[in-house]
Amino acid sequence: MSSLSARANTKSSGFRDLKVVAKTRESAIITSFLLEPKDARDWRPYEPGQFLVFRIPGPKEASAPNGYVLRNYSVSGSTSDVGRYRISVKREASPRPGLPDGISSTFLHDEIQVGDVLTAEGPRGDFVLDTKGNRPVVLLSGGVGLTPMVSMLHALASDDARRVIFIHACENGDIHAFRDEVSDLAALRPGITVHFCYRCPTDLDRSEGRFNSEGLVSRDLLQALLPLDDYDFYLCGPPPFMQAVYTTVRELGVPKERVAYEFFGPATVLDGGQPAIVASPAAEIEPQGTTVTVEFRRSGIKAAWDGTSSLLELAEDQGLQPEFSCRAGVCSTCKSRLIGGEVDYFEDPLDELEPGEVLLCCSRPRGSIVLDI
Ligand SMILES: Cc1cc2nc3c(=O)[nH]c(=O)nc-3n(C[C@H](O)[C@H](O)[C@H](O)COP(=O)(O)OP(=O)(O)OC[C@H]3O[C@@H](n4cnc5c(N)ncnc54)[C@H](O)[C@@H]3O)c2cc1C
Repeated sequence: MSSLSARANTKSSGFRDLKVVAKTRESAIITSFLLEPKDARDWRPYEPGQFLVFRIPGPKEASAPNGYVLRNYSVSGSTSDVGRYRISVKREASPRPGLPDGISSTFLHDEIQVGDVLTAEGPRGDFVLDTKGNRPVVLLSGGVGLTPMVSMLHALASDDARRVIFIHACENGDIHAFRDEVSDLAALRPGITVHFCYRCPTDLDRSEGRFNSEGLVSRDLLQALLPLDDYDFYLCGPPPFMQAVYTTVRELGVPKERVAYEFFGPATVLDGGQPAIVASPAAEIEPQGTTVTVEFRRSGIKAAWDGTSSLLELAEDQGLQPEFSCRAGVCSTCKSRLIGGEVDYFEDPLDELEPGEVLLCCSRPRGSIVLDI
């Protein structure tokens, strides 16, 4: 993921029980679950764009050796609905006979009912709306990637006079979720434009005029919808959509620091191996004028820390390719050995770390450090 604003400071501290108080079908494949902490003291506020991490019972196999899997779901509701999180989940069925259905999404759709209790951690994630900015905002989503955008749109519609262009691409009106909710939010105040782009509209979509354009989100479409201006872009969707729209947006001349994005799959880097710049405030860690260096000892590389990057981003900037997946302190894939020095976490790791271990994706050097990479 990448963020336009400062890293979210929201602290998360462990899993707690969330009770399902409503289950709502949003489309043929997307269902929302409204969740309240079982113990009201376990409420933790979130920023629009953040997600919760759920422990979902799974088969006791290599993929779920503890008997559960961890899955992330973005909060799709309004931050003004204090005490309740809404998540909206796409049912990921088996892509072809012989393969299993998605573990978590089918469990939630098929097994979980009102009154049941789920276990979740968070909110976390730094794909958050920069509420202090004043540039016009483009919220551009594909498929179920609209969930964080709906939360952002709630915030922008109620609090802000900023211009907003909400563009959503999906297959057709049968699987399109939040169509009415988004249209109603756009009607709350002037300055919010909504555009729905359907790849394969149905006859009903055509007869009821439920979409604005047909096909894929193209360069021509974006040029037509976005008069020349200095926008903040937020992108979210499945990897192929993200690759396509990110490339298009950058080809239109949008600087990468104006583009924040979130993947709904294993995270990857969109810009030719270079992560988008994360505009977080430089931590004043060493006295002014002192350079903080990060030594990647096994690779024989020493790099000056730029004051903003995570250790993972810094390693990638040096052409290194440490393993990663979630880029949010959840999966531990980027766990590495810290040979010397100390780090600070801007996102608390989900699992406890042993002394000498570091999660690269969510940490920064506290002073000069040495990594076993
Ligand atoms: C930050 C973040 C936020 C997210 N927010 C949301 C959200 O708001 N809403 C949402 O719906 N999702 C969201 N996701 C995605 C979500 O976390 C899950 O990845 C998604 O629900 C699929 O999980 P699953 O357990 O159902 O499927 P998995 O069990 O992980 O399987 C995924 C797919 O692979 C298929 N599959 C299984 N085995 C094989 C095999 N051997 N070969 C080929 N295919 C196979 C399954 O049938 C399924 O279609 C988010 C992800 C991230 C990283």
